[in-house]
Amino acid sequence: MSYHAALCGKADAMTDDDFQPNADRFVANNEAWAASFEHRGLPASPGRNVAIVACMDSRMPVFPILGLDRGDAHIIRNAGGVVTDDVIRSLTLSQRALGTREIILMHHTDCGLQKVTEDGFNAGLMEELGVRPSWSVEAFVDPYADTRQSMKRLEYSPFILHKDHIRGFVYDVTTGRLDEVFAE
Ligand code: ZN
Repeated sequence: MSYHAALCGKADAMTDDDFQPNADRFVANNEAWAASFEHRGLPASPGRNVAIVACMDSRMPVFPILGLDRGDAHIIRNAGGVVTDDVIRSLTLSQRALGTREIILMHHTDCGLQKVTEDGFNAGLMEELGVRPSWSVEAFVDPYADTRQSMKRLEYSPFILHKDHIRGFVYDVTTGRLDEVFAE
């Protein structure tokens, strides 16, 4: 069973024959976008001086959830919205080269990383590939505890220049509401 099947709790419903790649449609969509493009001249530095670190979840459109407009914020996304070394890399550039001073973490309910375990995921890779990844999948049980973990990683990082404005939230995918996470 593939990881997709394992995460969805069912056998692979979508075979290769069913899948229709999207890139051609995206290229056509982009033609329409470019035809009415009116946003020349925006600076590279985010206008609100803020960086958002969010899960890659497809149900979490960061811009409308927060009322952001283009040019407002850096958006850094990965599985879980976890603060990894590569997120630190992006935030370091964001703060030291592009002027952001505030960090918002957005984790959420019903995350894919709650549906796997570190050991189980690694064992599956080991069995299939004969190799364990050098990275952690960052599986978690409680999105609030996971958000606190990410906030702590930011606080302990010497590369993060501005730490006075770090806030963490869990987005409820059933209500659209953000719930703030406070340090314990
Ligand atoms: Zn997620």
